[in-house]
Amino acid sequence: MIRLTNVNKTFDKKPALNQISTEFPENKVTVIVGPSGSGKSTLLRSLNLLERPESGQYQFNHDFDIDFSKPISDKTILKLRQKTGMVFQGYNLFAHLTIIKNIMEGPVKVLHQNKNEARKNALALLDKVGLKDKANVYPSNLSGGQAQRVAIARSLAMAPEYILLDEPTSALDPELELGVLKVLLQIAKEQQSMIIVTHNMAFAQQVADKMIFLEDGQIKFDGSAHDFFTTNNQRIADFISAMT
Ligand code: ADP
Ligand code: MG
Repeated sequence: MIRLTNVNKTFDKKPALNQISTEFPENKVTVIVGPSGSGKSTLLRSLNLLERPESGQYQFNHDFDIDFSKPISDKTILKLRQKTGMVFQGYNLFAHLTIIKNIMEGPVKVLHQNKNEARKNALALLDKVGLKDKANVYPSNLSGGQAQRVAIARSLAMAPEYILLDEPTSALDPELELGVLKVLLQIAKEQQSMIIVTHNMAFAQQVADKMIFLEDGQIKFDGSAHDFFTTNNQRIADFISAMT
């Protein structure tokens, strides 16, 4: 599992993460919610070291025990990024490569998989995200929702231990959003460890094992999805109803 202890990050002396301590269990889905500017993206990006907190501890299984107040080696950064696959918005796909080549690129170049194996795996992943028939088209021929599903397949192809998603459907129309959410629900069922930032409360309620509510860089709720959605805490209840 991932464990953070007393993690702090400031931007221009303003705390974005304030004494964050929490855990992200393996084989479960943790959903992070909170108002705009509460630190959700900073928290997620810190997990694959796209942001570098100033202090605190970051434990990743028994593999890494990082002290943010000390330098982190390039080797650790690379390895940790392989274990925590960030799904970027779909427009991050390589425009000059077909969909299947987009998915094969990382496994072949970084993981040194042989091409046949990578192709077979990529096709299986395209099937999983419902896009097997798009293997040989280029990204410009996909809808936003399809591109986002390819981005998810591309991330899965690297077999990260955790998949990180920052508002994966915020750029999509509701109809396209639904296709992406269905794929994520399916992946969650297969016990893929995931950490998802979302504003979609109905989706959060369906997919989350664990909920984290952030406000002003602090964790104001950390517990089961059931407890979150049935809370007596007025602030959280108001937040949920405002988002629904
Ligand atoms: P959220 O994802 O919940 O909307 P963020 O993590 O993006 O929140 O931001 C948390 C706080 O940190 C906000 O006050 C935001 O303005 C600030 N912040 C985030 N990234 C930067 C940055 N690169 N430079 C300066 N301030 C930043
Ligand atoms: Mg954000």
